[in-house]
Amino acid sequence: MSNGAVFDVAIIGAGAAGMMCAAVAGQRGRKVVLIDHAAKLAEKIRISGGGRCNFTNLGTTHQQFISNNVRFCRSALSAYTPQDFLALLAKYKVSWHEKHKGQLFCDHSSEDIIHVLRAECELGKVAWRMGCSVNDISQQEDQSFVLQTSAGTIRATKLVVATGGMAIPQLGASDYGMKIARQFGLKVVEPRPALVPLTFDADTWRRFSTLAGVSLETVVATGAGKNKSFFHEDLLFTHKGLSGPAILQISSYWEPGSPIMLNLQPTLNLESGLIDKKSGNRQQLLTVLGGMWPKRLAECWLENMGITADTRLADMPDKKIRELAALIHDWQLIPTGTAGYKKAEVMKGGVDTAELDQKTMQTKKLPGLYFIGEVVDVTGWLGGYNFQWAWASGVACGQAL
Ligand SMILES: Cc1cc2nc3c(=O)[nH]c(=O)nc-3n(C[C@H](O)[C@H](O)[C@H](O)COP(=O)(O)OP(=O)(O)OC[C@H]3O[C@@H](n4cnc5c(N)ncnc54)[C@H](O)[C@@H]3O)c2cc1C
Repeated sequence: MSNGAVFDVAIIGAGAAGMMCAAVAGQRGRKVVLIDHAAKLAEKIRISGGGRCNFTNLGTTHQQFISNNVRFCRSALSAYTPQDFLALLAKYKVSWHEKHKGQLFCDHSSEDIIHVLRAECELGKVAWRMGCSVNDISQQEDQSFVLQTSAGTIRATKLVVATGGMAIPQLGASDYGMKIARQFGLKVVEPRPALVPLTFDADTWRRFSTLAGVSLETVVATGAGKNKSFFHEDLLFTHKGLSGPAILQISSYWEPGSPIMLNLQPTLNLESGLIDKKSGNRQQLLTVLGGMWPKRLAECWLENMGITADTRLADMPDKKIRELAALIHDWQLIPTGTAGYKKAEVMKGGVDTAELDQKTMQTKKLPGLYFIGEVVDVTGWLGGYNFQWAWASGVACGQAL
């Protein structure tokens, strides 16, 4: 019987972090194998950023990440920066542009990023096992690993787990990385969908369902005191609840059962704005509100407040205007849940950073075992931060292998 193929490093998960790590380790002379159960390479990179991959953010610091220990990611992020990734893209003449708040996207297609990573892996002579599932992992007395896979036995001195998070299971996302962590007695921070739309019960939402497709600028917040988080971004009404960048961002901080607070007109003081406009104004309130808000939202809002469409602004008592303004500036509502992993962009939680060395991503208890990328309890905001973490943690690990 064959003893199987032998490598210095086996990496499970040929996504963003896995490929980056393989390329770096391979180019340092390590004999690397990349294993992935998906037949098609790097599907999440392909679909990311609407097909243009928001591959980094120029403003990346540890402050745009959520983790039980947010300082953990600092070392890797400062050792491999957005500028380092841009230098890699320049080597392959990949053109890009900045869209919004430091977010960088490919000019042509996210395929450019996959091409760069694949080419870097080729330079490192990385071996591929695509469409390959791992059925069993054991660690030997000499601390090396034996993997039983659908493509036969693989032996490796070191094992890197880069299986990502559970978002979009239809693309091959799985909880396998966390299963491996638990198998080896490592702590896992309870995973949850993040960067995900929020949903409401059908009865509450019926009154707003006509607003599906309406989008507007908002400030959204959740939590209180020191734990209050807020984002100034666009909000999108959907058939089942709320989405858009504002909601995706706040969803990563939202605790089930707690409210979110929305300022639906963050650029104006509505109370004084409306009261000042009152005298001598023959316009309908709907017309005035519709001038500063999407018309459909103004209609729905007044209807929900029992204010008839033909009410004139001049006829509105100040008290009623104050009530209206207060509700628009501080609309509080309790989501019933999230749209789940099928619609989430990332997973929050994962392998507890307390188990890992921040410079190498190696587990402290089991030398030779590493975790990188989204499977680790490091979750970025929307805007290219999650890929920057995948690149940075992949490089930190690849340089240590
Ligand atoms: C729709 C969408 C859009 C996104 N857009 C952006 C964006 O524009 N910018 C940004 O920064 N982030 C974005 N993200 C998040 C980003 O894609 C991830 O954070 C990033 O890909 C994580 O990298 P990773 O290498 O850890 O995991 P992945 O890239 O997900 O790679 C994990 C790999 O492991 C493989 N795998 C899983 N389980 C197993 C198993 N049991 N056996 C073998 N292989 C396995 C998977 O097939 C996959 O190839 C987006 C995510 C989604 C879902």
